[in-house]
Amino acid sequence: MIIAIDGEASSGKSTQAKKVADYFGYSYLDSGAFYRAITLFFKKKGISTANRINKNDLNKISLNSKYNDGKNSIYLNDEDVSNDIRSIGISEIVSDFAKEKTVREHVYKHLREFSKNQSTVIDGRDIGTVVFPNADFKFFLYAKPEIRAKRRFSEINKDDINYDSVLDNLNYRDTTDSTRKIAPLKKAYDAHSIDVSDLSIDQVFEKVLSIIEK
Ligand code: C5P
Repeated sequence: MIIAIDGEASSGKSTQAKKVADYFGYSYLDSGAFYRAITLFFKKKGISTANRINKNDLNKISLNSKYNDGKNSIYLNDEDVSNDIRSIGISEIVSDFAKEKTVREHVYKHLREFSKNQSTVIDGRDIGTVVFPNADFKFFLYAKPEIRAKRRFSEINKDDINYDSVLDNLNYRDTTDSTRKIAPLKKAYDAHSIDVSDLSIDQVFEKVLSIIEK
């Protein structure tokens, strides 16, 4: 069983994906975290734009993910980078790295390998369109940018960033992600769209669950 939960930045994909995984006892994968981990790898080498990456370096990157009790840990070459990948510095450049074909192929390999033998809920941008076009269930979450930014802002450390920067980053990533040539952010034709603007986490979850259980 593969359940794909795609959608815009900060639309609550990972929250819903974890809830679905917990409910059914499935594994959970955050594909965005893998793009962030690859970005972190290059950033640590002083490379902040994707056109400067050495493609051979990708072979030196192994990605792993462990999901336990609602906590998702991301490993970059066996180092736990779960916190580092969430920094604003990574959010600002990750979409540029995610445009690269070789970067995407590297992530796809890890996603497909991980979910080969286990039922998995995966969140991302292109899971239902490109990575798992035959997924058993597909969802696409979206909401007004201001609502998503407000929700995101309420979760983060206010010393690091202000609301306008959160909104700007979210709009920048959505535009870059949806206009790129390879695997752009878009709803799969057979995905269930959910406008989460006026819904609580539990209300979205009820909708998702009712579709799966039907
Ligand atoms: O999901 P999250 O917001 O952490 O993803 C970070 C970035 O990774 C996105 O803005 C996008 O550029 C990239 N991404 C992607 N395809 C996915 C998941 C994430 O291109 N399936």
